[in-house]
Amino acid sequence: MGIRTGEQYINAVKSRKPEVWLAGKKVENVFDEPVLRQTVIEIAKLYDMQHDPEYQDKITHFCEETGERVNNAFLIPKNYEDLIKRRAAFEAFAKATFGLMGRSPDFLNVVITSMYSHSSFFEKYNKQWAENIRRYYRLVRDNDLFLTHAIINPQNDRSKSSHEQQDMFTHLGAVKETPEGLVVRGAKFLATLAPVADEVIIYTFPGYKPGDERYALAFALPIDTPGLRIICREPMQDGKRPLFDHPLASRFEEIDALLVFKDVLVPWDRVFIYNNVEAANLLYPKTGIAQQPAHQSAVRGLLKLQFATEVTCRLADSIGVDVFLHVQESLGELIQAVESIRALLRIAEHEYEVTPEGEAMPNWVPLETIRGLLPKMYPRAIELMQTIGAGGLLLSPTGADFENPELREDIERYYIGRAGVSATDRVSVFKLAWDLCGEAFGQRLLQYERYYTGDPIRKKAIFYNSIKRQRTFDMVDDALQVSKLKELVTNK
Ligand SMILES: Cc1cc2nc3c(=O)[nH]c(=O)nc-3n(C[C@H](O)[C@H](O)[C@H](O)COP(=O)(O)OP(=O)(O)OC[C@H]3O[C@@H](n4cnc5c(N)ncnc54)[C@H](O)[C@@H]3O)c2cc1C
Repeated sequence: MGIRTGEQYINAVKSRKPEVWLAGKKVENVFDEPVLRQTVIEIAKLYDMQHDPEYQDKITHFCEETGERVNNAFLIPKNYEDLIKRRAAFEAFAKATFGLMGRSPDFLNVVITSMYSHSSFFEKYNKQWAENIRRYYRLVRDNDLFLTHAIINPQNDRSKSSHEQQDMFTHLGAVKETPEGLVVRGAKFLATLAPVADEVIIYTFPGYKPGDERYALAFALPIDTPGLRIICREPMQDGKRPLFDHPLASRFEEIDALLVFKDVLVPWDRVFIYNNVEAANLLYPKTGIAQQPAHQSAVRGLLKLQFATEVTCRLADSIGVDVFLHVQESLGELIQAVESIRALLRIAEHEYEVTPEGEAMPNWVPLETIRGLLPKMYPRAIELMQTIGAGGLLLSPTGADFENPELREDIERYYIGRAGVSATDRVSVFKLAWDLCGEAFGQRLLQYERYYTGDPIRKKAIFYNSIKRQRTFDMVDDALQVSKLKELVTNK
């Protein structure tokens, strides 16, 4: 089939009945649930972009194997040009969502592509696993499927490993083998967009210890597999708030969920890793599933930071506070932050690395630097937005106030901005800002930037240790050559 349309995606959502729980109630039909419906529509728009002549050639290509058009996220990049083609796809989806939907379909499609291109990793442990991942990649690519993933164990007792938790099946683990497959039980988190996805992939983040064998698992299943329960977090909007009042929160809510597996059967052909702690720990660092999707995250993160910066600049301009020196300094800081990420991304692409198999990967050092900087720069953008918007952020009237003839005159008069900025213009910009920096929706976006790909503290420590292994800090020796004590003595 190749690229799907938005309608095909919506029909797929309508056709299945995953077990979704939202605010204490079972969702009968995902598309009819107001909290989830708009998300489905926004994702459908991304699928439609693949058919739009403005984007099609930029974000899709003809698959060598099938001859069908597929998204560039499924490309195994071989050189710089391929990386740029792939970036175009990431950029188009990120622009359409202002970088606010981190788990758009391209994210996990890159993960699956990377697992496929590193199928030799799976082969080392089990030929069947390698065959399974190759087949699964083709299934996802050729049906343009949308995946959610859950790779973290629930936060129960982080000081203990999975097999040491109070209950053997708090963390998702294998219960038994059957001729048909593996029966799994327990929970995994944090599956963003699970209710609206086609499939779920479970895999592991390093940290498993001997004794954790039953938890060393990777597999994929259709989202409506019997026994798979999706418990959503509290929604941050009810799906009924007007677009004018919540221009972002009412469109781009990415619901997150805990996944509970109640003795779910995973067919053997869907198992990618089982009962192997070493494979589970090495999957992340050895298959490019951290580095390749970091390209998508960097492109998307750049767009998100740029969007927050543009909103802050427009907000400052709309009330004339950008004439003040300290506000200009703050806005300059934000623009420089955006430009720093843009420059790092370009370096990552230009100085790409080639794996022994001939796959091009954006350079790890600038990518990881982006990963380290964004969790500081994005919250800073939000802080400056709050500081510059100040009390006005709290005081926006609603669309209903604007529409009420009794209030209209007051609102037009007292919400007007600097010369040339009408009350509607000023309030509209402030509403964008409030969704980003005041609403629970905006707080989630902030938390996402910190944690979407693991703990930023430990990631930075891993970065340092890796750099320490690669670099010898020779300039220090060069400087010390001149100032060595005996040399100084000799020179006298
Ligand atoms: C909005 C959002 C969306 C997400 N979407 C997804 C998704 O779609 N799929 C998915 O799988 N995951 C997703 N994640 C989860 C994300 O991968 C995790 O939040 C992240 O890996 C951190 O794990 P944790 O939240 O369990 O924090 P923890 O690991 O429990 O960390 C909590 C605190 O304890 C410290 N800590 C914990 N363990 C250690 C240790 N061993 N050594 C030192 N310090 C430690 C950490 O530094 C941190 O400060 C998402 C997260 C967020 C916030």
